[in-house]
Amino acid sequence: MTMTTHERADAKPAKFDVRNPANGELLGTLPIHTADEVNAAVARARRAFRVWGTLPHKQRRAHMLDFRRELVRRMDDIIDVVHRENGKPRADAAAELMLVVSHLTHAANRAESLVKPKSVTAALFANYRSRITYHPYGVVGVIGPWNFPIHTPMGSISYALAMGNCVVFKPSELTPLCGKILVECAQAAIPIPDVLQLVTGLGETGAALARAKVDKLAFTGSAATGRRVMAAAAENLTPVIMELGGKDPAIVAADADLDHAAKSVAYGAFWNAGQACVGIERAFVVDSAYDTFVEKLCKEVRSLKVGDDELAHYGAMTMPKQTAIVREHVKEALEQGARAVVGGMESFKGAFIEPIVLVNVKPSMKVMSDESFGPVLPIMKVASTEEAVRLANDSNYGLGSAVYAKADADRIADAVDAGMTSINSSLVFAAMGGLPFGGRRESGFGRIHGDEGMMEFVWSKGTTSELFPMPGFGMVFSDPKQKLTLMRQTIQTVFGGNVIDDVTSVLRKLVGK
Ligand code: NDP
Repeated sequence: MTMTTHERADAKPAKFDVRNPANGELLGTLPIHTADEVNAAVARARRAFRVWGTLPHKQRRAHMLDFRRELVRRMDDIIDVVHRENGKPRADAAAELMLVVSHLTHAANRAESLVKPKSVTAALFANYRSRITYHPYGVVGVIGPWNFPIHTPMGSISYALAMGNCVVFKPSELTPLCGKILVECAQAAIPIPDVLQLVTGLGETGAALARAKVDKLAFTGSAATGRRVMAAAAENLTPVIMELGGKDPAIVAADADLDHAAKSVAYGAFWNAGQACVGIERAFVVDSAYDTFVEKLCKEVRSLKVGDDELAHYGAMTMPKQTAIVREHVKEALEQGARAVVGGMESFKGAFIEPIVLVNVKPSMKVMSDESFGPVLPIMKVASTEEAVRLANDSNYGLGSAVYAKADADRIADAVDAGMTSINSSLVFAAMGGLPFGGRRESGFGRIHGDEGMMEFVWSKGTTSELFPMPGFGMVFSDPKQKLTLMRQTIQTVFGGNVIDDVTSVLRKLVGK
């Protein structure tokens, strides 16, 4: 990333350049917001929350749907900026926008019913009426990545806004213009200022947001940066949602439809140049299906076009640093006995990587254990789906996964220790508003999307009120001797035998009510 010449007296750059990864074209120059500027944005968001957080759901929903209309109105600008800043084909940028508006709609429509107060009964305190109510946190910080520069952050932003929070969003330094256009659309559509704000800059600006005493922080990126973000958030005990990397397995069973599995695994592995946290990064194929699957997959992969034009299936690597990681993984695998059946070291062509398929791989190779985040797929032959599941689960990561099978598909899917599994498909869970999305182990914790993801953006409050005093069960001092007798009787009668459903009537009998 080249700094501009707009530098301050202390030699710290005040702005940074954004370039097209495919051709180096300068796309824009944006401010590097300081910690003071980030704190000021959070303070403005807090003021906006007083209005946004108290709007009736119906009104908030109407504003969110206006936001959606504005995104659709600016569709071509958005597709263009995602294509040019991230490097992905326009068709994939359009697909990303479709996911954005779909999640936004789901969040806007679902919020009200989800946060309806709930009544609860407490067995022992039957003389109380209790309820749970749900409340937006206030200001949510969102730190987003560059690989899905609008879909991934909007997976948090849409749900946080729908639940009544205001958001300060820091996009990746590689894709800040994508962030800018999202925020412009929100600001054009929502008449309340500062409901969604943008702060831009490098890692330090993100670190400032993590320290800015926001009420909750949603981070998407690498596990390494996630650890730093958590440490910064811990200074103020700010709760965090961590959406981190993955090493997603695909499992192909003997009875899978191999024509379909080959096409679907190729899509899951090479879509977005493999730069997807839920991209397929390892395939385990049962012995009897192995040769046919590899042959069909190679045929499909060889037909893929890579480039910056309208015919390309995938585009440039967004981050030059990532190309070096993919190269290292492939080189090490080849040196340790893997065989490239599509591409190889010759696949690295500047900002582009042609598809690479490796066989004869071992679990100990980096390409099988570390996140490659590029267009490379190692395939391993296994004796059974049980062995495939064991190898799939033997990973520091546990984000997505894919299972290709007929008879046993659900059983295999249930055995995979990962946040999401698609059966006879790949990646699709990320598109579904109703499904929670998130990881296990170093893939992170907390959820976005789905009801679980929405509930991440509210806190719950328990309220209880005494309906009538019940001797011994009122929260006042009473005769200790009588209390001891009552407590012993209660423990014996209520909990000493079989479970009694109607605890209330037993208690009332005991206290003569
Ligand atoms: P990072 O995890 O470094 O960056 C993700 C976001 O965090 C960016 O907005 C980044 O800002 C910001 N950030 C960086 N440093 C800090 C910090 N100290 N405090 C707060 N925020 C910070 O991802 P990279 O872009 O470097 O990609 C590296 C790896 O991450 C990839 O190889 C891939 O494995 C993984 N990754 C996973 C993604 C996923 O969807 N799970 C998405 C992207 C990457 P800035 O860009 O300005 O540095």
